[in-house]
Amino acid sequence: MDVIEKGSELCEIIQKWKRAGKRIGFVPTMGALHRGHIALIEKSVKQCDRTVCSVFVNPTQFNDPNDLENYPRDIDGDVDMLRKAGCDLVFFPGEREIYPNGREYTLNFDLGRLDGVMEGEFRPGHFRGVAQVVHRFLELIEPDAIYMGLKDFQQVVVVNKLIKDLGLKVDLVPVETVREADGLAMSSRNIRLSSEMRKRAPVIFQTLMDCSKWIKTHPVEEVREMALKQIRERGLEPEYFELAAPESLLPLNSGMVRDKVVACVAAKAGGVRLIDNLVIKQGVCYFAG
Ligand code: AMP
Repeated sequence: MDVIEKGSELCEIIQKWKRAGKRIGFVPTMGALHRGHIALIEKSVKQCDRTVCSVFVNPTQFNDPNDLENYPRDIDGDVDMLRKAGCDLVFFPGEREIYPNGREYTLNFDLGRLDGVMEGEFRPGHFRGVAQVVHRFLELIEPDAIYMGLKDFQQVVVVNKLIKDLGLKVDLVPVETVREADGLAMSSRNIRLSSEMRKRAPVIFQTLMDCSKWIKTHPVEEVREMALKQIRERGLEPEYFELAAPESLLPLNSGMVRDKVVACVAAKAGGVRLIDNLVIKQGVCYFAG
């Protein structure tokens, strides 16, 4: 496996692969890798001839400087896991490789209302940063496919819009969320949880599961309140619990009928911000209140 820091070296290898007609899969990450990330790598390895993984803690998508500062980093562990998973190249760039002209936002990309709900609302500027870095990587790597986790559901919707609106020739492959045995979604941030909060954090997934039942008998507004209450009662601080249309991510109200909704949640567990979601399928009909 190649471990590359320079964009110029990366491009050389990629061009060689392209000339040989190889299908290239790309997995963007911020490192501190776990089995969730590795599921993306494995899918790419299965479906593509070559797999590239980037490890870059992107400063422009952090609205909270403390969060950026405390974000876990473990490049040796990452390289080891990627090698074992069959990754062909890890791109581990410095900031100058990604933002040669500074962090200024140059891509004038309109995220519309996607930027104003849920993660967009609670992390102002986050998705502009995501769009900026993903666009830069797609420009450098020109992969045939990009693999992204449904754990970050809104991010998948945003990147899908970016690809469609800019007419980029890359397949977006969403990958199911990998969870711990107690349902907690794997996240690089989980290692920052205290042992007490680690015990309590599964309430997030439990509430999503409960919500898929509540929604059949209660108005949406009530389901939101029930969910927020249950999470608070376990000592976490929810930022939002939202039921939304999976394509537009616009919040739903009672009386709307859909056969697919996504429940999305963000909550702080002793200062560690966790997100999760669940797509609820099969003829869900909202109680009209
Ligand atoms: P991150 O390093 O947090 O930016 O995540 C990099 C990629 O891995 C994103 O596409 C995430 O959605 C994905 N990912 C993170 N955690 C998980 C998980 N538990 N299951 C599946 N994919 C994940």
